[in-house]
Amino acid sequence: MMQRLPLIVFIAVLALGPVVLPEFYVTLLNYIGMYSIVAVGLVLLTGVGGLTSFGQAAFVGLGAYATGYLTTAFAVSPWLTLLIGLAVTAVVALILGFLTLRLSGHYLPLGTIAWGISLYFLFGNLEFLGGHTGLTGIPVLEFFGLKLDTGRSFYYLIWLALLGAVFATQNLLDSREGRAIRALKGGGLMAEAMGVDTARTKIVIFLIAALYASVSGWLYAHLQRFVNPTPFGLHIGIEYLFMAVVGGAAHVWGALVGAGVITVLKQWLQDLLPKVFGQSGNFEVIFFGILLILVLQRARDGLWPWLARLVPVKAGQRAVADAAPLPRREMPVVGAVLLEVKNARKQFGGLVANNDMNLTVKAGEVMALIGPNGAGKSTMFNCISGVDPVTSGEIAFLGERIETLASRDIARRGMGRTFQHVRLLPTMSVLENVAIGAHLRGGKGVLPAALHLERAEEARLLAEAKRQLERVGLGEHLFDEAGSLPLGQQRILEIARALAADPCLLLLDEPAAGLRYLEKQALAELLRKLRSEGMGILLVEHDMDFVMGLADRVVVMEFGEKISEGLPEEVQKDPVVLEAYLGGVE
Ligand code: ADP
Ligand code: MG
Repeated sequence: MMQRLPLIVFIAVLALGPVVLPEFYVTLLNYIGMYSIVAVGLVLLTGVGGLTSFGQAAFVGLGAYATGYLTTAFAVSPWLTLLIGLAVTAVVALILGFLTLRLSGHYLPLGTIAWGISLYFLFGNLEFLGGHTGLTGIPVLEFFGLKLDTGRSFYYLIWLALLGAVFATQNLLDSREGRAIRALKGGGLMAEAMGVDTARTKIVIFLIAALYASVSGWLYAHLQRFVNPTPFGLHIGIEYLFMAVVGGAAHVWGALVGAGVITVLKQWLQDLLPKVFGQSGNFEVIFFGILLILVLQRARDGLWPWLARLVPVKAGQRAVADAAPLPRREMPVVGAVLLEVKNARKQFGGLVANNDMNLTVKAGEVMALIGPNGAGKSTMFNCISGVDPVTSGEIAFLGERIETLASRDIARRGMGRTFQHVRLLPTMSVLENVAIGAHLRGGKGVLPAALHLERAEEARLLAEAKRQLERVGLGEHLFDEAGSLPLGQQRILEIARALAADPCLLLLDEPAAGLRYLEKQALAELLRKLRSEGMGILLVEHDMDFVMGLADRVVVMEFGEKISEGLPEEVQKDPVVLEAYLGGVE
């Protein structure tokens, strides 16, 4: 209750707005509301997902023109045109998304600029959309017989739509799909290895952001009752992005703050600056440019985190509820061959990192892969797990050829892995990082998540993550930021994350590095236990005591090739191995 208090107060104040405020402020709030809807989409797309779009204004235009055209030319009901506008926007967004989202780095924003400009000129040049003059005579919205023909009456519709977008977005982010979305920025490769289809996830947030923009356009058209291309141009697209950044690009409520600050500031500057400079002109554009640079330099996270500190409520830690365990995979019988690598070769340009590698891992054994630095062990891991596929050769997992499969498809078949250079989402909690590992064990999609209809499944996923964390000894750190753990424990977190996927084969790349003696013993104990449960483990490790005390078989690599294989005691005596490790010293 205490946690919801600021929200309740905020909504109460909002509801009173039109009753007490003069017309001017109601209008201002209407615009802030409509801009905020677009900005919320950008928070999801850019702030959280890391995909920068300058083209959102074009989607606003699609929503506005769809209803403008259909209501004036064919007298279609505005509520129906809302749906049609959303459908049109969805089709356009899907096409643009498929074309541009595969672009990486700076090419993506450039791509959004390109289609942003194209759509803008399309609006202005299509005869039936009224060219640059636009469309007039758009009908008043009616809501159960109530005419929304004043700013005051329209206000409630706008803010209801905005609050709906805020809550749906917050719910979505706080879900299995939301973790996948949050993993996009900086964790794409890891997310794929945990089974997340990152290409699909990008399309999903692109679509949601476009649909929000379209709703905003629909509202705009019926509030203004005319549309022309001006508000859907590139410079407005930049302003939307600006709102999201100033407010706090990664915070949903930041969108409101950003839209509010920018809208009010713009209004004010447009009055003030021409007086200061003694001539008319769009001086506020210069001011905004300077402001953007300041924000990016001084307050990367925008205004929201700073504001949130003023609200005297701490975000509570939700206890993880007990929930029924998730269904488990049927484990292969002990001794069955899980993994078979045949003549695997991996080249990076002229460098042969793996050459003619052969190895097998059986259920219920620990197979160690050792060798000096640069021998090609991590490369082998990446080939096996599909993170960076082999150049040639065969890899079979559970009797099925997998060397051409994507890492997420291999993960789905029951292979889990950790990374030598830990790949986790440092600002997310330990618990949520591990829950990403259980991604494939849930199936509820975006819509149930946005409406929080997936709480039962979510509880089971989080309970599983908690169980695995307790199992590896991190049970006391569930709500810590993952990045705050010492590096050794971050590696252990990765093991818990891999276990959360319920794998039958586990690939561990230097799991004991950075651990203290007792922690290493606990890790060895855990691995023995997993082995006794029938898990196959492929282990890369430099600590020879650790390896030799644990491994059932050992493969030794040097310069990308296998130089020895056998029982630990055999390998330790092999002169070739001694030569590789000690450089021939007696
Ligand atoms: P290990 O894990 O045994 O220490 P790696 O598999 O990381 O060794 O590296 C094997 C060799 O391949 C090294 O010479 C390394 O520099 C090279 N290598 C690894 N990954 C890449 C890459 N993505 N591009 C180019 N060279 C790479
Ligand atoms: Mg390595």
